[in-house]
Amino acid sequence: MKIGNEIKEKAEILLKELTLEEKIGMIHGAGLFRTKAVERLGIPALYMSDGPMGVRAEFEDAAWVPAGVTEDYVSYLPSNAAIASTWNRELAYECGSVLGEETRGRGKDVILAPGINIKRSPLNGRNFEYMSEDPYLTAEQCVPLIQGIQEHDVAACVKHFAVNSQETQRLWVDTEVDERALREIYLPAFEAAVNRAGAYSIMGAYNRLRGEHCCESQFLLNGVLRKEWGYEGTVISDWGAVHRTKEAALGGLDLEMSVTDNFDEYYMAQPLKEAVEKGEIAEAEVDEKVRHILWMMLSLHMFDVDRDRKTAVDTQRKPGCYNTPAHRDAALRAARESIVLLKNEEERLPLAKETLKKLLVIGCNGNKIHSNGGGSAEIKALYEISPLMGLMTHLGGNCEIRYVEGYYAQDKQEGGRNWQEDSLKEGGGKERQTVQVSEETARKRKELLEEAVKYAKEYEQVIFVGGLNHEYDLEGQDRSDMKLPYGQDEVIEAVLEANPGTIVVMVAGSPVEMGRWEKKAKAIVWNWYAGMESGNALAEVLLGETNPSGKLPESFPYTHKDCSAHCVGNFAEERLLHYREGIYVGYRYYEKQKVPVQYCFGHGLSYTEFAYSDMTVEKQENAAEFCVNVSCTVKNTGKYAGKEVVQLYIRDKNGRVDKPVKELKGYEKVELAAGESKKVKFCLSGKAFAYYEESAGAFQIVPGEYEILLGASSQDIRLRACVHIMV
Ligand code: BGC
Repeated sequence: MKIGNEIKEKAEILLKELTLEEKIGMIHGAGLFRTKAVERLGIPALYMSDGPMGVRAEFEDAAWVPAGVTEDYVSYLPSNAAIASTWNRELAYECGSVLGEETRGRGKDVILAPGINIKRSPLNGRNFEYMSEDPYLTAEQCVPLIQGIQEHDVAACVKHFAVNSQETQRLWVDTEVDERALREIYLPAFEAAVNRAGAYSIMGAYNRLRGEHCCESQFLLNGVLRKEWGYEGTVISDWGAVHRTKEAALGGLDLEMSVTDNFDEYYMAQPLKEAVEKGEIAEAEVDEKVRHILWMMLSLHMFDVDRDRKTAVDTQRKPGCYNTPAHRDAALRAARESIVLLKNEEERLPLAKETLKKLLVIGCNGNKIHSNGGGSAEIKALYEISPLMGLMTHLGGNCEIRYVEGYYAQDKQEGGRNWQEDSLKEGGGKERQTVQVSEETARKRKELLEEAVKYAKEYEQVIFVGGLNHEYDLEGQDRSDMKLPYGQDEVIEAVLEANPGTIVVMVAGSPVEMGRWEKKAKAIVWNWYAGMESGNALAEVLLGETNPSGKLPESFPYTHKDCSAHCVGNFAEERLLHYREGIYVGYRYYEKQKVPVQYCFGHGLSYTEFAYSDMTVEKQENAAEFCVNVSCTVKNTGKYAGKEVVQLYIRDKNGRVDKPVKELKGYEKVELAAGESKKVKFCLSGKAFAYYEESAGAFQIVPGEYEILLGASSQDIRLRACVHIMV
């Protein structure tokens, strides 16, 4: 993002007027989610709020005590995992636009979203807040989302920069990652967020990278972000991610935020002021931070500058709004396209709405809402349609629906105080401990299972709705394995035995082991935390009113032990993390090592069929810019209208450089009526063929043969063609 000269000149006028005390007030938290205003000059405080699934509820200014008001209920949007799962850039834009408009509507300036860290392991507690294991998909979905947010005179704060792929020991964990993996896997989405989307702010992560805390990192902030990418936006620390005054002040950070109420003692508060007064740190360093913040404030139209009076003055700023019908409609449309049909044997789905007379819904997630959990992503949703409510409202009075719990979800988060108050203790995050099952719990589980089986035998149609919840998909805690909690495997097995036509629906923010029952289940539907309309979207899919079109934005391995973060690198156990797997993250690893997965990256079925044909690949020889044009025809050969995501992967056939079997470099979602055909086009730039050559410190292209693959998933390639690249 580049700031124009006019804004820069105006900022200088104010900067010259500010005292050191006033400048210091602008670069650290003076409330839990705000900075200090400079009333004398008319500069307002900067108000921030979480993100990413909606604007978070109000807290007291200086305490983690919910304000307890009624006006902070908001639209609850699909999680980033769900948005990525749509593979639909327009929907990402629309969700961003809702988030931005609601942020502004709630009177905030910065929304602490989106989270775009790469999913290195399925166990990361915050995976639901992130998009994908693939840098290209993450970049493509986050760019429109950020643009949507920022259209409303508010800033996105892209987080967490960088390599923040686990929660355990998050404040101290140090990450060793090779330069190639950093450049090819962990940084591209951030670069896209900054340079393509023009994100006005970015959040420095808690963790360390190669020994440096991310918020004090010369390498990351001054080097990569500012110098290489030319970033002119604001760098905000994660809450409590700063550890030292001088290093933060000189490391490229602009604004220190934290979770404690001793605001004057923050590293970039009085300690920094004193260091400047003693001449240990130049005031020019403080000026640079204030400059970035003023540039952002002016870009957001928070005020204008009266050049004669040298003060900030009112200007036209978009007012925003929240809880509108249009926002709810966008949430529904995104939720619909995020649902992934994993399996559908014997065309068990869709269910025939007209003839369905008795339906049994088993499983706590059928009757649960998730918006109020997860950590800082929690929100007060205006409403949230549960799967059960979705089914009931769609089926109406002619179908008898019975709900039984099926399993006992015993562990609850501690109530009372907000966890965030204590979030800096003990390294800031932990791996989840296995919950001991008490006798009482075991007895309850048995009773619920028996009840579920009894009814499953009686009911013509059964839907099991299980998965995870925000006890597991949770900030500050990683999962210890991918197993389904609460004894669900046993229940699913028993229910499938009792009623083999049972549809299994998983509601979760990260993959789970399904091995015990996956083969027996004929139909499996994956539903992310998909926002306020989630239950409606699910009901539409189950009843055939919406044809599913979501595709997995991450591989679903059989167990986390198959994942490279665990079997090649290390995860969670220690304070020093070795990303020994390098670039081999997600499908890049599974394919290279031929490790079978439960469901592959890009997988997702439809109620209709799509045929791919007529692939063309054409190099534009005379064009000024490198370009390979690829096209194919996709035909809907089934009986339902539907949407298909055509995925483009590139495979390097030269073998001169160690590379993944193939990598995603393009995708397009097309809508087709039954029988309809459309031509799908891609334009590949040189970047799509490049890899990061460490010895050169740059991206390079190996000349030679490449294969372009077009398919419906990473393992369902329908068309292929070669192209010779000369550099
Ligand atoms: C999280 C951030 C969040 C911040 C403010 C931290 O615990 O890591 O993602 O934006 O708190 O709530």
